[in-house]
Amino acid sequence: MSKNTKDIKCSFCGSGKQDTLMLIAGLDAHICDKCVSQAGQIVAEELNSRKSKSEQSAVNLLKPIEIKNHLDQYIIGQDQAKKVLSVAVYNHYKRLNQKVGKDEVEIEKSNIIMVGETGTGKTLLAKTIAKVLNVPFCISDATVLTEAGYVGEDVESILTRLLQAADYDVTAAERGIVYIDEVDKIARKSDNPSITRDVSGEGVQQALLKILEGTIVNVPPQGGRKHPDQKMIPVNTQNILFICGGAFDGIEKKIANRLRTQTVGYKVNKDEIEIDLKNLYKYITPQDLKSFGLIPELIGRLPIITHLNPLDRATLRSILSEPKNSLIKQYQKLFEYEGIKLDFAPEVLDFVVDKAMEFKLGARGLRSICEAIMMDAMFEVPSGQPTKDLFITLDYAQEKFEKSDLKKLKVA
Ligand code: ADP
Repeated sequence: MSKNTKDIKCSFCGSGKQDTLMLIAGLDAHICDKCVSQAGQIVAEELNSRKSKSEQSAVNLLKPIEIKNHLDQYIIGQDQAKKVLSVAVYNHYKRLNQKVGKDEVEIEKSNIIMVGETGTGKTLLAKTIAKVLNVPFCISDATVLTEAGYVGEDVESILTRLLQAADYDVTAAERGIVYIDEVDKIARKSDNPSITRDVSGEGVQQALLKILEGTIVNVPPQGGRKHPDQKMIPVNTQNILFICGGAFDGIEKKIANRLRTQTVGYKVNKDEIEIDLKNLYKYITPQDLKSFGLIPELIGRLPIITHLNPLDRATLRSILSEPKNSLIKQYQKLFEYEGIKLDFAPEVLDFVVDKAMEFKLGARGLRSICEAIMMDAMFEVPSGQPTKDLFITLDYAQEKFEKSDLKKLKVA
């Protein structure tokens, strides 16, 4: 019995032909364009969640020693920080796999704060660890954040970045790692509560608290300011690991003061008062962070504190050539593509290290100094006479460096 076209309805939503763009006929049913697109969405979401479930199991659960061994390939020194991070990350993922029963001891989240001069490898550590674990990772800068409603970015934008890193796979993002750089810049501006609001300091710390502790946060998918008509993605931050980093310029003085006051009046034996004045960071405690201007609630949410040592000459020299993707190896690779074997005289490396020490930029300086030396070669060699080898001598390096703009950099 054939139906009158007027009687044809979508077998799913019941819309008549006149209410739809098209009705697709099946064996014994019809489906409208809206239901097709809705069904398509459901399938896509399901596939996505299955994919992220398989990715979840793909989180490499390495043992702390294995994690550290991996970090060792990319990062020179900083043993203490590596150890602390390896253990914290391992415990974090153990916690994720914990099925909390009624009487089970619930393992608490262990966000981390890393303190160390600029260019000592804080970001590199966080980045490398995320790579080892194969989880979504993003870097955010605390300096751009402001309290909601003021010029700048809302703290939720941090999670937007994580979502983007996870290709908007919410389940994967909820197990990711966020590195928040320059947290020292959101320190309270002064000890006295002032009349004007501290919208980029304490205000941001308050807003961060909420995200760090683990709640469901509505995240604007494209970042920027939240507005009422926007569709938000709810993200549960309970299992996201937050690593904060900062140079905390001047905190050494606070540490020194504390150490001094602690030792006064004590009869300490000689070894114990042997304080390493060159690296006061290693004595850092939550108390110092508080006197620097972090609010106690935020410090409480960052229970693991670790420090990075300042880089000395020997470490800088190793950074230049030893890590798996060291600068020297990178230049060699670049020239290898041209069929050229590049090598450096050992004195050139010493020269680069000397200059980097002068500029006091940590390992960051190494890159710009090498660039200054190698720029002309990289510019000319590809279109010059074919050669097999290129050997950079000290004279060549000095000459190129003298000619570069870097030379004009004032040494602080
Ligand atoms: P920070 O975040 O502490 O300011 P980064 O991690 O961004 O410093 O370091 C800047 C660059 O210096 C890195 O990309 C890396 O090449 C190099 N670097 C710094 N410290 C180390 C280290 N300990 N081992 C290897 N490379 C390092």
